[in-house]
Amino acid sequence: MTEPTDITSIAPRDKAEILAQALPYIRKYHGKTMVIKYGGNAMTDPALQQDFAEDVVLLKLVGINPVVVHGGGPQIETLLKRLGKQGQFIQGMRVTDPETMEVVEWVLAGEVQQDIVGLINQAGGKAVGLTGRDGAMIRAQKLRMTDQKDPNLEHDVGQVGDIVSIDPAVVKALQDDQFIPVVSPIGFGEQNESYNINADVVAAKLATVLQAEKLLMLTNIRGVLDKDMQLLTELTPRQIDDLVVDGTISGGMIPKIAGALDAAKSGVNAVHIIDGRVPHALLLEVLGNEPFGTMIRSH
Ligand code: ADP
Ligand code: MG
Repeated sequence: MTEPTDITSIAPRDKAEILAQALPYIRKYHGKTMVIKYGGNAMTDPALQQDFAEDVVLLKLVGINPVVVHGGGPQIETLLKRLGKQGQFIQGMRVTDPETMEVVEWVLAGEVQQDIVGLINQAGGKAVGLTGRDGAMIRAQKLRMTDQKDPNLEHDVGQVGDIVSIDPAVVKALQDDQFIPVVSPIGFGEQNESYNINADVVAAKLATVLQAEKLLMLTNIRGVLDKDMQLLTELTPRQIDDLVVDGTISGGMIPKIAGALDAAKSGVNAVHIIDGRVPHALLLEVLGNEPFGTMIRSH
């Protein structure tokens, strides 16, 4: 990773030049919605957290509508461990028994969401935390997960949710005003039961129903890597298929790439998986002109 530049040494004239270079991008994205999946290291490192919050506020202030969807895997893992429970994953999904579901709700809708809301507010924005229950936003049902290799085999992953529908009315109402929605990936079922939904899946579906201009997924790696650990800067649906089948894409990258592809095919103009470990990753992607991370193509 590159060393951060000492910006105190940049001459005011150069700073003005840099800002002016962002103008075409600001004009292009003004009034548009961007869904941002916030996860990985960007969410646990304090300096990166602050950069993220500043970037989100800056986007809002230049007339772009950021909508944040957050994950919380490491934080859930920490609390489970403290309670003496061991997390388990099948095909990238957390096996969610009732006790785990309680922990997921505490951590996501409590701690993590409110931390992000606080950070954004501190950076000068007005964030509002929501779960999928708020505004009856995310209806879900139990995910029926078939085995990747054997379609006759089904895995029981407990209260992991499959999205039935998303009603974005509450998000629209907030973003049309001055607020920045921060969404925790928790859905509700017909009996008002709770569902733990992969945050990438929620971000992708929300981007689709909002007809967002961009979906940006911040993660803890450079982007999608090939077998030789080289960054793949662009991926077509066909290439993605091959990489999943041959096992190059595994674990948490499976729901991420599936969501990203869904969004790209459903009309979200630009879908990128980017490195959240890079300071100001968000601004770099939105207002910079260098390609960054992996872009997912719709065809
Ligand atoms: P996030 O918090 O971003 O959702 P995840 O752990 O769920 O993080 O997903 C990102 C992880 O996916 C990476 O850290 C990496 O270990 C894993 N992964 C699996 N296959 C690939 C691949 N082909 N390219 C990049 N990452 C991959
Ligand atoms: Mg993940």
